[in-house]
Amino acid sequence: MKIGFIGLGNMGGPMAANLAKAGHEVIGFDMAEVTIEGVTMAASGAEAATGAEVVITMLPNGQILRAVAEEIIPAMSQGAVLVDCSTVDVESARVVAAAANASGLLSVDAPVSGGIGGASAGTLTFMAGGTAQAFAKAEPLFDIMGQKAVHCGDAGAGQAAKICNNMILGVTMIATCEAFALADKLGLDRQKMFDVVSTSSGYSWSMNAYCPAPGVGPQSPADNGYKPGFAAELMLKDLGLSQQAAEAADADTPMGQLARDLYDRFVNQEDGKGMDFSAMLPRFEKRGRG
Ligand code: NAD
Repeated sequence: MKIGFIGLGNMGGPMAANLAKAGHEVIGFDMAEVTIEGVTMAASGAEAATGAEVVITMLPNGQILRAVAEEIIPAMSQGAVLVDCSTVDVESARVVAAAANASGLLSVDAPVSGGIGGASAGTLTFMAGGTAQAFAKAEPLFDIMGQKAVHCGDAGAGQAAKICNNMILGVTMIATCEAFALADKLGLDRQKMFDVVSTSSGYSWSMNAYCPAPGVGPQSPADNGYKPGFAAELMLKDLGLSQQAAEAADADTPMGQLARDLYDRFVNQEDGKGMDFSAMLPRFEKRGRG
């Protein structure tokens, strides 16, 4: 298949490389000078999109996605599929899908979970929004770049699933970290805390699979000086998107809002920038109630 791939950063680079490795013809474009094994570089997004059966975008945010879509949609062939794998606001996903469909293209919003490790290993999870026909055309590529693809519904449904999942993740990570810090102050051993909670009703992915306490539970960024992993600023981005969506949909999300505010403070006023999002634990550890 001839594939255009726009946005070859930390995630897009290895995803495009995996498509090329699987035997597809991949024409890439990035604003920055990059070289990706097996990928032929084009001089512009429009050039990468011309003649491609599928164009994949993996960009920083919705504003950039909208600008890139405006440029590439007119260059794409009738019936081709535009697959956006970036994490963006639901509104941008729907606007881009509508513009693509109006030009006779198929479209899928397909944000991913699995991080840079999953992108390299080809083990991402895709959550997709779009018509069944569009999803069916993109699915063989999801199978190369990932291990699971869930068709969540119409345009925007992939982004909706992604931000709801990450809102739960942000809230439970904070709850897990503050509970560890409280347990410390109550004189409870961290290993005992883990042994109880990981097999009791307080368990979660944050506790069981990504324990924020160093030396406790499975290997996680906490065991590596809180080097990301999943950076606190990326969690802040996703929590911002879920609050933006909650406002637009008039949904009451007080815990999501609080989680957003705490990560905002952590990233922008404290020392959280560049740290893994589980570094909330050392943050709470240092604090009292004041
Ligand atoms: P990144 O900053 O490494 O890559 C983005 C790339 O887009 C950069 O190479 C940049 O030069 C390029 N770019 C920006 N504007 C462009 C334009 N107009 N035309 C062409 N290229 C342009 O970011 P990333 O970590 O690869 O993340 C990409 C997306 O994936 C984001 O939406 C992010 O939220 C999401 N995501 C990231 C992770 C992660 O762990 N990094 C996990 C899940 C989802």
